[in-house]
Amino acid sequence: MKVYECCGIESVTKKVFCSSCGKEIVNETEVPDEGIVYSFTVIQVPPAQFAHLAPYTVALVQLKNSNAKITARILENVEIGDQVSLDSIVDGAYVFKKVNTNEAVY
Ligand SMILES: [Zn+2]
Repeated sequence: MKVYECCGIESVTKKVFCSSCGKEIVNETEVPDEGIVYSFTVIQVPPAQFAHLAPYTVALVQLKNSNAKITARILENVEIGDQVSLDSIVDGAYVFKKVNTNEAVY
C-alpha cells in the first residue's frame, strides 16, 4: 500500500495538502502490506451493518517500513506485537490476517 508523507507525518489516506505546513503532499512511498498489532479492541456490539461479524477484532496496525498506523479488522484473535498482513479491502475497510510465524518450524 502507499504511504503519503509530509513534515514527518505519514498516512495511508491521500490528502492533497499537509495539515501541518499546508503544502501539497508529494512524497509517496510504497510499503509492504504488513505490520504489527499496536493495540486492539474486540467489538462485541458493532454498528448494524457489521452485526453479522460480531464479535470481531479491530486493531491499530503499525505498518512495516513506515510510522503510519492504520485501523483494520483482524480475522483472528491477536495479541499486541503479532505480525499481520493485508487480506483484503472490504467496502473501503482494511481486513488483515495474522501471519503465522511458527509455520516454518517443522
Ligand atoms: Zn508538511
